[in-house]
Amino acid sequence: MRVEFLGGVRTVTGSSTLLERGSLKWLVDCGMFQGGKELESRNWKIHPYHAKDLSFILLTHAHIDHSGLIPKLVKEGFRGKVICTKATLDLCEVMLQDSGHIQEMEAEWQNRKGKRAGKDEAIPLYTTKDAEKSIRYFQKVNYNEKFQLADGVKVRFQDAGHILGSAIIEIWVEEGGEEKKVIFSGDLGNFDQPIIRDPSFIEEGDILWLESTYGNRLHKSREETLQELLKIVQGAIAHQAKVVIPAFAVERTQDIIYTLGQFIREGSIPSIPIYIDSPLAISATEIFKRNSNYFDQETRDLLSGGESPLDVPGIVYTQTTEESKAINEDPRPGIIVSASGMCDSGRIKHHLKHHLWREASHIVFIGYQAEGTTGRRIVDGAETVRLFGEEIVVKAHIHTLGGFSAHADQRGLLNWISHIHNPQLVVFINHGEEKISMELSQLISEQFHFKATVPQWREKRVLFCEEEKGMPEERAKEELPSEESFSVLLRHLDRTYKRLRRRWKREKKKGEDFYDPRRLKQLEEVSKKLEELEAEL
Ligand SMILES: [Zn+2]
Ligand SMILES: [Zn+2]
Repeated sequence: MRVEFLGGVRTVTGSSTLLERGSLKWLVDCGMFQGGKELESRNWKIHPYHAKDLSFILLTHAHIDHSGLIPKLVKEGFRGKVICTKATLDLCEVMLQDSGHIQEMEAEWQNRKGKRAGKDEAIPLYTTKDAEKSIRYFQKVNYNEKFQLADGVKVRFQDAGHILGSAIIEIWVEEGGEEKKVIFSGDLGNFDQPIIRDPSFIEEGDILWLESTYGNRLHKSREETLQELLKIVQGAIAHQAKVVIPAFAVERTQDIIYTLGQFIREGSIPSIPIYIDSPLAISATEIFKRNSNYFDQETRDLLSGGESPLDVPGIVYTQTTEESKAINEDPRPGIIVSASGMCDSGRIKHHLKHHLWREASHIVFIGYQAEGTTGRRIVDGAETVRLFGEEIVVKAHIHTLGGFSAHADQRGLLNWISHIHNPQLVVFINHGEEKISMELSQLISEQFHFKATVPQWREKRVLFCEEEKGMPEERAKEELPSEESFSVLLRHLDRTYKRLRRRWKREKKKGEDFYDPRRLKQLEEVSKKLEELEAEL
């Protein structure tokens, strides 16, 4: 079996791995890169596979850094199946459309600015419509049910305890008359998170992809974290101030609703306005309520006892922009929970603009802030940050509460891997910043004597090969295509050319000049590759 690391290596975003067995090609995750221009430019790169040649995408969970490029793939001709749990499917339906909307908005914003500066037209990566269409290729599976994916390939999803519907994926492949097993940890949850269950343990396997987001850190206990949050909220109430919580719409927001509800139920805080200001978070909360069979025992007990842990007195769901704007005119102390979690898009940017410069306000980070994001700059102590083209001074109290994380910390990861009983285990460390992945890799090699490595982006390997045992085969020659991708390139060239021609005709009709630098660049790249390939042949 051959694999290629397409994303989520030496970075936390863009998770994707290509697997090939004979003529069968499939992906595990198809995530979007986020955090800075350089990384995000990878979202536009020509894929080393052709969308039409892929039979499946096995999807660990709904977060955009794992699912975000599915609509783009469908747009490019993917007609296989996206296999995931029911909760992941429900969440993807709203999250991918939201992502398409963000792509459209960003292109529009860039064009508004760009036109004034004489720049060329920006096009969205994909649109809301593309996202909507992609959902028809999704197919749901249950946890713990082993099924035949293709001849000689079996798959099972197990609860990863990260977000609702998240999964660890086990894959059994027949290799030379023997059955071998590959495990993708996906994003592994933090133990004792409310609402959802703890991650399942896996006991057998030959090769493991292990996430490493918090591979070098220990979270504070949930109890300590709750006390910290309680103090912050009580302090804000005493000073008639607001608490702004940037939160991922899925899971972190519901966790915060659950926690604040607990404070109110216990009488630790009075019922104050709690604004859930993110249409996506509102939809996600509805999906949570519909999928209570994914909840842990504690939450189910609350439900059967007549309590609804996601309905809290004082909670205000704000759908419209007007309602959102009105929040900052409310002089009462309150809590604003808004997305996106890393502060690079969505309504949270408006709330930060309103509160970062106010000394009395509190900004509470409860999720991972990737390198290159606005959230990371604030957490790292920036004196000012740029929002909507304006430099905003940071005077508010900034807090980071690691105990709310949806990811296992170093202890959790080591404990999880310790359950796999195979001294020959090969481990690929992914989904972490480079330094952190390296640290965890070393720790695992020392502690368990497993063969742990941190792959490179676009690195290829042959697995279960007698001489190689999962060791490096070759570094993907940067962008140099193999013979079989010759036809793929030709098709791409043809499509790009036709699209350009169509747009040129349209613009010409309107009597305007037309120049699309991105497409032209793609054309140039493809032509160059074809020339290189011709020279080789
Ligand atoms: Zn995730
Ligand atoms: Zn992730």
